[in-house]
Amino acid sequence: MFNGILIRKDEAGYRATLEDLDDGALGDGDVTVQVAYSTLNYKDGLAITGKGPVVRRFPMIPGIDMAGTVAHSTHPDYRPGDAVVLNGWGVGEVHPGGLAQRIRLKGDWLVPLPKAFTARQAMAIGTAGYTAMLCVLALERFGVTPDHGEILVTGANGGVGSVAVAVLAKLGYTVVASTGRPAEADYLKSLGAAEIIDRAQFSEPGRPLGKERWAGAVDTVGSHTLANVCATARYRGVVTACGLAQGMDLPASVAPFILRGVTLAGVDSVMCPRPERLVAWERLAADLDIGKLDLITREIGLGAVIETAAQLIQGQIRGRVVVDVNR
Ligand code: NDP
Repeated sequence: MFNGILIRKDEAGYRATLEDLDDGALGDGDVTVQVAYSTLNYKDGLAITGKGPVVRRFPMIPGIDMAGTVAHSTHPDYRPGDAVVLNGWGVGEVHPGGLAQRIRLKGDWLVPLPKAFTARQAMAIGTAGYTAMLCVLALERFGVTPDHGEILVTGANGGVGSVAVAVLAKLGYTVVASTGRPAEADYLKSLGAAEIIDRAQFSEPGRPLGKERWAGAVDTVGSHTLANVCATARYRGVVTACGLAQGMDLPASVAPFILRGVTLAGVDSVMCPRPERLVAWERLAADLDIGKLDLITREIGLGAVIETAAQLIQGQIRGRVVVDVNR
């Protein structure tokens, strides 16, 4: 038996509970991992609260991330005792996930735990931090360098936003952090933000083009915010879009793209090919200050997951939440 969160949807409704589970709750796979840490991402919040259609098979153990030690393996690349990390691939959505003490899954989905990180640190980064790095890699791929000008990060106090601010600042970019929580300005400055701005200026319907400002952007918010960020990007600026905290819609015009040559670069972490994941984790090891990671992170046990998921969806959590599944 092992402890895990289980989501059910039946005549009694949609609900998540902490339960004693047996191996029947695990999915198919060639590797079984003893989970040390998991984490709470925005998507896990949607799954646990039922606020978004994340879970597509019931009952389901949520948790799109985990770090732990291989217990059994018939996969050629993994042996018992190996330290591994999992991000995405539909785990916690269609395949039982990481918010439990045990997981069984395809070894092809795993990456070795980078030597630079403990399991806890890898989960402090989690999908949110790995996605932030995918956004940074996309900015670089489209040629944005620190001398081009300011980089805007929206949803800056969230998990993706916090890691993006820290990494971009360490790489020498001038980072402007957009937030609805100006009271957290000192936190964002300690991560490396040069300026804090109120997210309200992006939240409402805007004009097709505004004053040019951003050489690049990491947008975690979508909707009017993303439209306004594109409209205020500089000539040939690059806007990376990874999130939908304000909404999934994009009420924009083509003006920034056809008149200013702005690039809108989509970022997906879930099905991202393995070689790019490995690069993202290598770059996190090189370009994320571990001291800042501690600043970003708080830890909870499995018992606090359900209430914390609700707070996360209400935008009340700063930075990242690590889950010690064994306490
Ligand atoms: P968090 O909940 O940690 O952060 C989201 C932040 O967005 C909040 O902290 C808040 O920042 C801001 N926000 C919340 N509501 C609104 C609103 N109505 N209008 C404007 N801003 C708002 O989530 P994550 O950082 O983990 O994820 C951010 C987004 O990225 C989510 O939508 C998530 O689904 C998506 N995501 C996508 C991935 C992909 O593969 N494409 C992978 C990982 C995440 P503040 O208080 O600073 O304003």
